[in-house]
Amino acid sequence: MNRTALITGSTSGIGLGIATEFAKAKYNIVFNGLEPNGAEIAANIGKQYGIETMFFPANMMKPDEIKDMVTKSTEKFGKIDVLICNAGIQHVAPIDEFPDDKWNAIIAINLTSAYHLTKAVWPKMKEQKFGRIINIASAHGLVASEFKSAYVTSKHGIVGLTKVLGLEGAPYNITANAICPGYVKTPLVEKQIADQAKAHNMSEGDVVSKVMLYKQAVKQFVSVETLGQLALFLASDNANTITGTAMPVDGGWNAQ
Ligand code: NAD
Repeated sequence: MNRTALITGSTSGIGLGIATEFAKAKYNIVFNGLEPNGAEIAANIGKQYGIETMFFPANMMKPDEIKDMVTKSTEKFGKIDVLICNAGIQHVAPIDEFPDDKWNAIIAINLTSAYHLTKAVWPKMKEQKFGRIINIASAHGLVASEFKSAYVTSKHGIVGLTKVLGLEGAPYNITANAICPGYVKTPLVEKQIADQAKAHNMSEGDVVSKVMLYKQAVKQFVSVETLGQLALFLASDNANTITGTAMPVDGGWNAQ
């Protein structure tokens, strides 16, 4: 039987890129995201790669919707083998101007949803003695940048959660790892490029080279295929002794 991966925020950007690599490897995929054409995206990938898919527009701020998604997808596929917590948002502002509602939303979506998702898939993973939890953190899970208080906090938090899950999962062949990407050109980053160009009165090209990729030694955006291939390896049987890690995929940003 094919393995099943549940990937949050998989109807855009990195999540969609990871889902595509898992589809090529014949996993069944549970898609999630707030894009209005999410159901269509899931169905098209299912058809293209000959795999089974489901789609849930579950809001990662709502624990009941998270639990319902896990219950219904487990009913259909029998189990979730791989959980990829990827859904995330960003807001950039100085601490004294940071909107409280943005802080709460970022912590809920980027961090607390991973707690609820893990709790929901864990008992079945324990029972079947196989589970792979992959959290998409960020280079900002390891280092800070100014004006990103909520995001950096949420990403450091998910690295901490990953370490605990690595320890708790060990007796059950459940591994947990965090992937920490540098900049990836997705809708989330395209919005930041436009916002920063306006805020600093710079061209978008200068924002990319002088602000974003400034900290990366490799002056290229990280590709979603690189992240998808790494996630696939972490999901494999061969990765059974890799757990509790936070892996930078950041063009050398964290080497400095
Ligand atoms: P994106 O905006 O392209 O995709 C985010 C996905 O999350 C979308 O599918 C969106 O619908 C979903 N989402 C947002 N809020 C949600 C909610 N409340 N409930 C359910 N789904 C929700 O962004 P991306 O760049 O692909 O980011 C994906 C993850 O990668 C995020 O956790 C982000 O922090 C992380 N990341 C991104 C970069 C980058 O440079 N793009 C770098 C490091 C880490």
